[in-house]
Amino acid sequence: MKRIYAIIYDMDKRDLKISIAHLYPKHLNLYGDMGNIIALTKRCEWRNIKVDYYSVNPNDDIPEADLYFIGGGQDNEQITVAPCLYKHKNFLLEQRDKGSVFLGICGGYQLLGHYYAPFEGEKLLGVGLLDAFTVAGNKRFIGNVTANTDFLTPKTVVGFENHAGLTYLQGDTKPLAKVEIGNGNNGEDGSEGARFMNVFGTYLHGSLLPKNSHFADYLLSLALEKKYGEPMDLSRLDDKIEIDAHNSVVGKAY
Ligand code: GLN
Repeated sequence: MKRIYAIIYDMDKRDLKISIAHLYPKHLNLYGDMGNIIALTKRCEWRNIKVDYYSVNPNDDIPEADLYFIGGGQDNEQITVAPCLYKHKNFLLEQRDKGSVFLGICGGYQLLGHYYAPFEGEKLLGVGLLDAFTVAGNKRFIGNVTANTDFLTPKTVVGFENHAGLTYLQGDTKPLAKVEIGNGNNGEDGSEGARFMNVFGTYLHGSLLPKNSHFADYLLSLALEKKYGEPMDLSRLDDKIEIDAHNSVVGKAY
């Protein structure tokens, strides 16, 4: 007997739309970080939420957007893009203060702070959306990470880290999560990632959002609230595959 699997998505009928600007995908797209954009755009598509997607190259202007994404990269790519990003510092600070959502992964996360000082060469100035700074250590942190947030259900976020940068948070910039397995920001203070207003940074590659769909939806909800000026409940999706992927990593070092 042929079994027909009907996945009924509770399609959104509110004719919603958000804009997503992807900063420097040709340079900052390490360890599959493009998967974050795929997760965000598919989770909108499955809900009939339209997405204006902008792929931004280093010499392009940066458009106004409801959500900005910047992925990870080796030091060389960061050296290439940092001066281009820095030119837009004041604009990006305005976007942050208007409530736009930012997600930075690893190298991109580092450039959302005040600076990243690679092991060799000049300090790379960041855009200061996060009150944080990063200095390269002499040890590379590589491996799985499980960390616990205080704002997601389930509280866990999981991923893979590969960085020599040690990030330190200050002021009102708080950790995204507390490390349970892995190193996180610096392997010293138990913090992983960062959050200030709607700006989020994390060391979690993997890519992050496909196996942390609850975090993806949290970011989309913030972007919709920024766009429409009121909290937006997202219609439910069948996340069995995403949840199984998440749970297959939780608490595992290897
Ligand atoms: N080059 C930076 C570091 O080594 C970021 C690496 C990354 O994005 N995975 O810390």
